[in-house]
Amino acid sequence: MGRKSNNIDKTLKNLSLNKEAPKSAFILLLLLFGIAHFLVLKSSTTPGAIFIFGMPVAYSAFAGVFSTLSNVCILCLVMLFRKPGYIISLFLLLVQFPMMIVNVFVRGNMASLPGFFSTIMIIGVISIIYFSNRKILNYQQRIREQAVTDRITGLPNRFACGELVSDLHRHNEDFAIVSIDLNNFKSINDTMGHDTGDLVLTEVAKRWRNLADSGNTGTTDFVARNSGDEFMIVISNYGSASDIEKTINAYKTELEKKITIDDCDYYLTACFGYIIYPDDTDNVDNLYIYADAALHEVKETGSGSRILRFTPGLLNNEKFLDIERKLRSAISGNKIFFHLQPQFDMDHNLRGFEALARMTDDDGAFISPADFIPVAEKTGLVDRIDLRIFELAVDFIEKVTKETGSDITMSINISVRHLMKNTFMEDIRKILETHDVSPERIEIEITESIMIDSAEKALQRIDEIKALGLRVAIDDFGTGYSSLSYLNSFPSDILKIDKSFIDRMSLSSSSRQYVAMIISLGHILDLKVISEGVESTEQVEVLKKIGCDFVQGYVWGRPMPPEEAGKLVSSDN
Ligand code: C2E
Ligand code: CA
Ligand code: CA
Repeated sequence: MGRKSNNIDKTLKNLSLNKEAPKSAFILLLLLFGIAHFLVLKSSTTPGAIFIFGMPVAYSAFAGVFSTLSNVCILCLVMLFRKPGYIISLFLLLVQFPMMIVNVFVRGNMASLPGFFSTIMIIGVISIIYFSNRKILNYQQRIREQAVTDRITGLPNRFACGELVSDLHRHNEDFAIVSIDLNNFKSINDTMGHDTGDLVLTEVAKRWRNLADSGNTGTTDFVARNSGDEFMIVISNYGSASDIEKTINAYKTELEKKITIDDCDYYLTACFGYIIYPDDTDNVDNLYIYADAALHEVKETGSGSRILRFTPGLLNNEKFLDIERKLRSAISGNKIFFHLQPQFDMDHNLRGFEALARMTDDDGAFISPADFIPVAEKTGLVDRIDLRIFELAVDFIEKVTKETGSDITMSINISVRHLMKNTFMEDIRKILETHDVSPERIEIEITESIMIDSAEKALQRIDEIKALGLRVAIDDFGTGYSSLSYLNSFPSDILKIDKSFIDRMSLSSSSRQYVAMIISLGHILDLKVISEGVESTEQVEVLKKIGCDFVQGYVWGRPMPPEEAGKLVSSDN
C-alpha cells in the first residue's frame, strides 16, 4: 500500500508502521480475550468441581484465573496497538457494564460485584497507560521523524532511503536508485553565502517533492537528500528501464528551470548516476556504491546527457589504481619499451612497422596496452608513453636505415589527449631534430574518434604535423562515427581498417562488400588503405581482390622485439 503511494510523507509513515506489531497479533489478542471472557462466564456459572491431586476444586474458582488472562489481553492490546488497542479495549470493557449493572442492582447477584469493580479498575489502568504513553509516543514520533528527515530541506534523508530500499527488497520489488550531484553548487555557497545556498537547496527539494507527489512521472518516486548538494531518488513501479530514464529526465528538467531567490536568478544542472535492482546487480548491499560509481563517471567525463546507468566496468577502480601505480613506476624507471609489428604490401614485401608500447608486471608478465593505455590517458601519463615510444621508434628507424639502406616506414600511435596539448608539436620536433630520419618515413596514427571530439583543433594540429613532413594515418577506421565530409577535409595519407571489419568478412558477402567500399572510398580520396588484424591467408586473398594496399596482422607477423624486427628488415633487403 504505502509502497505504491506517490506521496513521500505517506511512504515514510507506512515505513514506520512496518515496525509496529503485526495485525495478526491484534486479532490473536482479541480472540484470546474472547475465549478468556467466555471461560470466566462459563466457570462462574457451572456448578460442581474437578479433582486436582485428589482435592476437589470448584469450577467457579477458575473464574479469577480467566479474568486475569482477559485483563492481560486488554493490557497487551493497549500497549502494543496504542490508539486502536485502547479504543477496542475500552469498547470491550464498557459493553460488559449493562450486564453487570442488571446482575448486581436488578437481580441482586452480588457475585458480579467484584467483576464490576475490577472492570472499572482496569478501565482506569488502561486509560492511565494510554494517556501517559501518548506523551512519550508523540515525543518518540518526533524523534523518529527527525531521524528520517533532512533538517534543511525537510526531505527524507539517506537513512529513510535505506529503510525504503530494505522494504522494497523484502517485498521482492524491482526498483532503481538514482544518485544525484548538483553541478557547481559550491560556487553559489562561496559567492552568495551558505544561507542562500540552503534556500536554493530547499527550492530544489520543494520542486522535486512536488514532482514526486504529483505522480506525473508515471513511476513511484521517493526523493531524499543525501548530504550537501547530493540527492537520491528511489524509483519503483515502472514498466521498463526506459521509464526510469524518462523519470530521471523529468527531475532533470524540473531542476533546470530558473530558480529566483532574493531577485537573483540561478540556473542549476546536475549529474545523475543510477542502478536498477536486480537487473544491474543482485548485490543489494552495494547499490549506493554502484549508483555513485555511475555518478562519478558521468561527472568526470563531464559531457553528454549527464545521466548514466551503472555498468560493472565502472568498478574497476582497484585494478585501475594498481595499473596506475605500475605505470608510474615503469615510466620513472624508464621501463616502458616497444615492440614492432610488421606491415606488408599485398605481395608480402615489408612496408614498415607499427610501434606498440609494452610494459611488464613486477614478475615480468606483460600488461596489455589495451589495459594500461586507457589508464595512462585518464591520468595524463599517456604523453610520456607516446613520447618515449616515439623516441625509441625514431631511434630504431634511424639505425636500420643507416645499416641497411631500407626505406621502411614507422607508424607511431599518438593519443588524442596528447595531440591536443600545446606542447605536442614542440615535443616531437625536438626528437626529430636530434635524429637523422626523413620525416615522410614516419606516420602518426590518430584514432578516428578525434574527428568528432574537437575537429577544428584536430585539423589544425594535423596540418602542423603535415607541415613537418610527417604522414598521418587514421587508425581504427570504421569504429567511430566516420563522416564522409570529415574524411574529405582530413589531410591524412592512409586509412587503417579496424580488425572488427576484417573479422566479419568471412561471415557474409555484405561484410566483404563493406570493406571493399571503405577501400574504394579511401582510393577516391587519394588515400592508401591498410587492413589491421589480418589473421588468415583467406583474408589476405579477399583483400587482394578488393584492392587493399597493405596488411598488418598475425598472418604475416606478430609484434616483435626491435632486434627481431631489425633482422626482418635485413632479410627483406
Ligand atoms: P592499435 O593501434 O589498433 O594496435 C593494433 C593492435 O592490434 C595491437 O595490439 C596489435 O598487437 C593487435 N593486432 C595486430 N594484428 C593482430 C591480429 O592479427 N590479431 C589480433 N588478435 N590482434 C592483432 P596491442 O599491441 O595490444 O595494442 C593495443 C592498443 O593499444 C593499440 O591498438 C593502440 O590503440 C594502443 N597503443 C599501443 N601502443 C601505444 C602507444 O605507444 N601510444 C598510444 N597512445 N597508444 C598505444
Ligand atoms: Ca595503431
Ligand atoms: Ca588500430
